[in-house]
Amino acid sequence: MSAALLTAEELTKVYGGGGSASNARTVRALDAVSLDIHEAETVALIGPNGAGKSTLLKSLVGLLPPSSGTVSALGERFSGEPSVAQRRAIRRQIGFVFQDHGLVGRLSALTNVVHGWLGQPGGWRAVHQSTAPGEARQRALSALADVRLEDKARARVDDLSGGQAQRVAIARAVMRKPRLLIADEPAAALDPAAGHEVMRRFVDLANARSLTLVFTSHDMEHALAYADRIVALKGGKLAFDRKRSDVSPQTLRDLFHG
Ligand code: ADP
Ligand code: MG
Repeated sequence: MSAALLTAEELTKVYGGGGSASNARTVRALDAVSLDIHEAETVALIGPNGAGKSTLLKSLVGLLPPSSGTVSALGERFSGEPSVAQRRAIRRQIGFVFQDHGLVGRLSALTNVVHGWLGQPGGWRAVHQSTAPGEARQRALSALADVRLEDKARARVDDLSGGQAQRVAIARAVMRKPRLLIADEPAAALDPAAGHEVMRRFVDLANARSLTLVFTSHDMEHALAYADRIVALKGGKLAFDRKRSDVSPQTLRDLFHG
């Protein structure tokens, strides 16, 4: 198997307790979690509300420092706070998608995707598709085609459905050609049909571009339908880490309701 893109070794994350009050409440959101994620895998992080999914996702890419344990992300290894240079090196290689698409509603789909170029050298020209470098525009159009929205390039995001807007956010996340896609509950704000459509496009795009995709979901159906591997958390601990084909719907029901 190829080298791991993301590794957690005994990763523990405790929130709180840093305040002046001696009785400040602490939450052990992750408790000695170890895992490896490899190139081109599609991994679902699942578990009930509060299980630690978002905390694990953020910790794996240096957005939250581990309280103890070690993380390796895209070649950068750290225990505690990653350095500014490490954060930057990691960030450059990642496309992010969140539950709320975070697009600018009054601008076109194409301009929003072109915004994925901001922060690159000469990236200020990407404030609008009309001034963006040709390469940025080409990549944005190709990303929109990959999520089957080429015909909506000129539409204002305000006029798109929730599912279409989330697909624009996915196009924006891939336009800088990241190695890794990270998505926190990408379908949670959508109705079931739109949620499935977004996940289908997302996974197809990740596979077509051989990108590694790690997404969190509290939806068992999404994990079973779209991931090659399912990592389950419960109360901050790893409950199981298996190939999708080794996970039954009953296993998932036990995780969520057991
Ligand atoms: P999930 O994404 O699975 O719902 P989270 O990772 O958001 O779970 O949260 C895990 C635990 O950590 C929960 O008990 C939550 O309340 C707590 N938590 C999350 N973020 C913070 C924070 N910034 N400060 C304090 N506690 C937090
Ligand atoms: Mg969450």
